[in-house]
Amino acid sequence: FAIGRVAAEDALAEEAPEKKRRVRFADHQSPSDWTPVGWRERRAEQQPDYPDAGALQRVERRLAGSAPLVEVADIIHLRASLSQVANAQGFILQGGDCAESFAEFNAEKVRTTYKLLLQMGALLRSATAGEVVHLARIAGQFAKPRSAGSETIGGVTLPSYRGDAVNGPAFTAASRTPDPRRLLDAHRQAQVTIELLHAYASASYADLAELHAETGLEGPLRPVSMFTSHEALLLNYEQALTRWDAPSESWWATTGHMLWIGDRTRQLDGAHVEFCRGVANPIGLKCGPSLKVDELLRLVERLDPENRAGRLVLIGRFGSAKVAEHLPELMRATRRAGRNLVWTIDPMHGNTRSAGARKTRLVSDILAEIAAFFAIARAEGVHPGGMHLEMTGGDVTECLGGSASLVEEDLERRYLTHCDPRLNRGQAIDVAAAVAGLLAP
Ligand code: PEP
Ligand code: MN
Repeated sequence: FAIGRVAAEDALAEEAPEKKRRVRFADHQSPSDWTPVGWRERRAEQQPDYPDAGALQRVERRLAGSAPLVEVADIIHLRASLSQVANAQGFILQGGDCAESFAEFNAEKVRTTYKLLLQMGALLRSATAGEVVHLARIAGQFAKPRSAGSETIGGVTLPSYRGDAVNGPAFTAASRTPDPRRLLDAHRQAQVTIELLHAYASASYADLAELHAETGLEGPLRPVSMFTSHEALLLNYEQALTRWDAPSESWWATTGHMLWIGDRTRQLDGAHVEFCRGVANPIGLKCGPSLKVDELLRLVERLDPENRAGRLVLIGRFGSAKVAEHLPELMRATRRAGRNLVWTIDPMHGNTRSAGARKTRLVSDILAEIAAFFAIARAEGVHPGGMHLEMTGGDVTECLGGSASLVEEDLERRYLTHCDPRLNRGQAIDVAAAVAGLLAP
């Protein structure tokens, strides 16, 4: 607890001096009853069991003294874009790996993700009234909630792999023991990733011409802003990089522009909701089949008491077989409560199937859940505000179907994910093209 307080005060000392900016957004002050350490008094699900508390504290101190990964002005820009979507103008395209990897990181991989988002965005933009908001699942997506805390193979039981920011995927005791120094590696990789995204975004006129040629789209070329997002799972990491910003009189998570709360960590009185309620970033909330209407309304009130457009994005993830049972009443409730928020759909996490020892997803299930989302939103008088995908610019074989008609026998060829199965580039383009069809009036 003490370390958290020290970290928070360091952050204040570092950021409070007159950092004048013209951008002001007086509209989103952090609540006065909140501090960055308050989550420590709540129950935090899905946290690593670090064997060495001292090592964790040293890492937290290093992170607290590190530069923010994203700029407050850019987060405010994202909030403004999302507020347009909350007002029924525009569409959020959120996507990237299920889990980023240290071993597979390189500049080309970031570039292919960036390029894929741009290509999909170009397809969607031609059909969208308003802007497409490009929100990469990147530069912080290193930690995974797990259904089972441990795994047993051949009579040996070890902790589950929880993402590269926590432990390693190899099934050895050394690799599976959570190591807080991995948080520093995650931070460094996130920093490089964001620098690369900036470089691509600012150098992208030539790339855009190439993209337009490949996609066959007409229309004006213009650079797009690329924002970053990840699940705010590891609260020690998030807290250490939370900064006070005097001009906006707010606390900001500087690990990414948007953070979301996972379906397993959205307990109303839990640590993740407590942490996220106080940072002024846009916040996503995964909404799965177990979420009850009154629970959702309380969460929305807790996370956005001022009901400000651009603050909250609800991300439904029910599965194609369950979406029609759960989503209508949830949408109806937020509409009747007059909430200024955005509804989007994650058609991945409710559609995971097993194929032998592997997990996979069918493009047909993904498309069915998205189509149901659009139909339900329109029936409920809610703007269908975006989609959230697990995908990669590479040529993997992890999901089945799509225009290349991947079948189960293809899975063994290039099944590279360390976590959930991702759409490959072609499948992601297929989904974007289908969604462009649904967006067109
Ligand atoms: C995820 O987005 O990778 C994830 C774990 O999702 P959910 O919290 O919705 O299960
Ligand atoms: Mn996933």
